[in-house]
Amino acid sequence: MGLAMRISARFIAVGVVLAAFAAEVVAASDVRSVRLWRAPDNTRLVFDLSGPVQHSVFTLSAPDRIVIDVQGGKLATQLDQLVLSNTPITAVRSAQRTADDLRVVIDLSAPVTPKSFTLAPNQQYGHRLVVDLFDQEAGMAPSLPATTTASAPVAPVTPTQAPPKLTPVPSSKRDIVIAIDAGHGGEDPGALSPVKGQYEKHVTLALAKELQRQISAEKGFRGELVRTGDYFIPLRKRTEIARKKGADLFVSIHADAAPRAAAFGASVYALSDRGATSETARWLADTENQSDLIGGAGNVSLDDKDRMLAGVLLDLSMTASLSSSLNVGQKVLSNIGRITPLHKRRVEQAGFMVLKSPDIPSILVETGFISNPNEARKLASSSHQQVLARSIQAGVRQFFQQNPPPGTYLAWMRDNGKIAQGPRDHVVSSGESLALIAQRYQVSLGALRSANSLSSDLIKVGQTLQIPATTLAVQP
Ligand SMILES: [Zn+2]
Repeated sequence: MGLAMRISARFIAVGVVLAAFAAEVVAASDVRSVRLWRAPDNTRLVFDLSGPVQHSVFTLSAPDRIVIDVQGGKLATQLDQLVLSNTPITAVRSAQRTADDLRVVIDLSAPVTPKSFTLAPNQQYGHRLVVDLFDQEAGMAPSLPATTTASAPVAPVTPTQAPPKLTPVPSSKRDIVIAIDAGHGGEDPGALSPVKGQYEKHVTLALAKELQRQISAEKGFRGELVRTGDYFIPLRKRTEIARKKGADLFVSIHADAAPRAAAFGASVYALSDRGATSETARWLADTENQSDLIGGAGNVSLDDKDRMLAGVLLDLSMTASLSSSLNVGQKVLSNIGRITPLHKRRVEQAGFMVLKSPDIPSILVETGFISNPNEARKLASSSHQQVLARSIQAGVRQFFQQNPPPGTYLAWMRDNGKIAQGPRDHVVSSGESLALIAQRYQVSLGALRSANSLSSDLIKVGQTLQIPATTLAVQP
């Protein structure tokens, strides 16, 4: 009785009672397979079902267990095939309590916080029950790498302790942070390739890792992976992770499919609130936004109270970050265009959910059509991945050399005239003289005169001047 009492008390306290027990009796659905994905801060269990079910989840302690009751469920698979290494799960057991009442018990080595939801069928999967088990030790920090799971207890800071000595941090030289988002993952394989066993999620992760390596090798830059392994992250969570990492730019890497197998070429996308700039752009945005339908956005909730405010802030900062997005996107596109055919010669715009960060310039790089057999083969080769990553990195570097965020190493380099730059345009505004402009761009007055074929130093407001390339070498 004691146990029953405790169970029912927790049952209510956990508040995940999603089942309506009095609902009509439906024919039992088979649990056809169970899949498991490990993410840095959670473990996802996916039950593939032959039809809809009702379910409830509750926790038990001493020892830690999770109980999943599936009403209208029948186990039609083995549970002992699951690979449980690197998860807090020690065993998964089941019992058929009645003909259509399945209980699954998950034995745990550490307490977890469960969240569960069901997903309706889509192109790739049928009915699913998803149970996410969030680690409690990791402090629910999704940005922590998986290596922190074996963390030693942190010594508590007592008020009597002296504050840590303030070492002079060269804050004027921080790194520019590029968040690199490998599209899809885990539950969501992304586009399918005609090459057997090749999925978009693997190609994007390999590309993202190579890009991170190259970006971090450049002084003044740091690449941060949004996804570090084969697991699913909802779209909004991806931008949230980028923000937590202090990203100056968000680059989402994809290799998508098109209805026409012959479609080929790379493209770069920025967000559009108004509508897609082309049919392909709209089609791709729709496809990408389905990711949450495939993988489920059940663990992301937007606070309703903040929604109004968020909307206002979004409008205010979106304009500024959109023009940066288009600028960096164009630079990345022209670099990619040197090594691979382009699908479109300008940055396309569409309503990609993953690009909706109001404060972080964001681009989505479509590295090629994985549905095209020729491009699928290229995308799978590590030499092509290296060249692709190099071209993206070059575009990113060019953008930040021209637009270094204040306080970064690159801003310091520019302010000290240590960055060589290609030719640019400058529109004269009131109060500017030719000498002032020359000084600002670190070019000589003579070079500025000859680049614009000026016979005198008289300039007009609104006039466009060619700023010649500077020849200073970039210091290592
Ligand atoms: Zn994709």
